[in-house]
Amino acid sequence: MNIHEFQARELFAEFGVATQPGSVAHTAEEAKNVAAGLGGKLVVKAQIHAGGRGKGTFKSGFKGGVHLCETPAEAKEIASRMIGEVLVTHQTGPEGKEVGKIFVGEAVDIARELYFAILIDRSTSSPVVIASTEGGMDIETVAEKSPEKILRLIVNPFLGLMPYQTRLIAASLGLTGPLMTQASKLFTNLYRLFIERDCSMVEINPLVVTPDGKLLALDAKFNFDDNSLYRQPSIIAMRDITEEDPREVEASKFGLNYIGLDGNIACLVNGAGLAMATMDIIQHAGGMPANFLDVGGGATREQVTAAFRIILADKSVKGIFVNIFGGIMDCNIIATGIVEAAKETGLSIPLVVRLEGNNVEAGKKTLAESGLKLESGENILDAAHKIVAAVKAVA
Ligand code: GDP
Ligand code: MG
Repeated sequence: MNIHEFQARELFAEFGVATQPGSVAHTAEEAKNVAAGLGGKLVVKAQIHAGGRGKGTFKSGFKGGVHLCETPAEAKEIASRMIGEVLVTHQTGPEGKEVGKIFVGEAVDIARELYFAILIDRSTSSPVVIASTEGGMDIETVAEKSPEKILRLIVNPFLGLMPYQTRLIAASLGLTGPLMTQASKLFTNLYRLFIERDCSMVEINPLVVTPDGKLLALDAKFNFDDNSLYRQPSIIAMRDITEEDPREVEASKFGLNYIGLDGNIACLVNGAGLAMATMDIIQHAGGMPANFLDVGGGATREQVTAAFRIILADKSVKGIFVNIFGGIMDCNIIATGIVEAAKETGLSIPLVVRLEGNNVEAGKKTLAESGLKLESGENILDAAHKIVAAVKAVA
């Protein structure tokens, strides 16, 4: 799960991570009022679940999702050009995201822009700190052009981020004296926030040094571990489903593990590992998966029907690959779900089914007697080739 920057700033306040004063606004008028309560120059920032806002462009032609200005009247004017408009950045895809809220803050003078992030390193099963002197730009670009400017530091999860490590990171960022003290405190508090709120990533880009020697987080991107949300009610309360893929929102209502992708072959699979293998084999056969979908080991008929409905509601889907290995799963439940959903939705695109395992004969019989137009796959590879060929034939 992701949250907005203004919500991340609320977490910063709670955990003692230094940032500038400011607040969220939902209308241009509110933006003006927020601005009037602040001092000095102002910064107005579109709130969407995507980065690259500064360099983004609104579909209206208005450039930039981050603007500096001088007066509350200007803040209102900028807000009116952002709210209700669609902002396209390199992270939103060409369709962009509609801006529903903005953040208005006191603009900060910047002497240096740094990069600081904590995420999970799967190869060492540990949190890892990524820090760089090259803040303000994409870390991917830094990694490509000047990888030597990126510090990677593994944190022992049992010990946590140690004081000597915070000093080491600070020193590598050129933060000395009082700035090192501020940095150690900021890194320690951010690490505590990362652990206590079950984050899978926090990224501050830029973390800035001001000309008068302050260290402040000016931007924040958070990811939370969905499997921990059950014990994070305050984080769940920050969920903004208008920012999420509607297909994923619908799937989560039925307890389905669904992730939308860009291809045109939908897959419905039981088991996450098999679902991954299915996406791989679709690509291997020359196609592109439209989604990851694991209906789980003990899916009900309702879940299978819901899964089918979600797949078919996706306009980019041109074919469906059902790949079921019934270990716990009863193949006939899947078959019945497919038949019901196909009838309900008037299935008109190619469907290839590979069923194997528990009660497979009954499942195959249900499919055969349903009158549905579908192909069977002898095995995964055969099924993958069949669906790719069928989709290419209609495209
Ligand atoms: P992003 O483009 O979505 O990553 O949004 P950011 O919050 O990182 O803002 C983009 C850029 O705008 C930053 O890298 C800064 O260079 C600049 N910026 C953001 N806030 C301020 C501010 O308060 N003062 C100044 N001078 N620049 C800012
Ligand atoms: Mg940024």
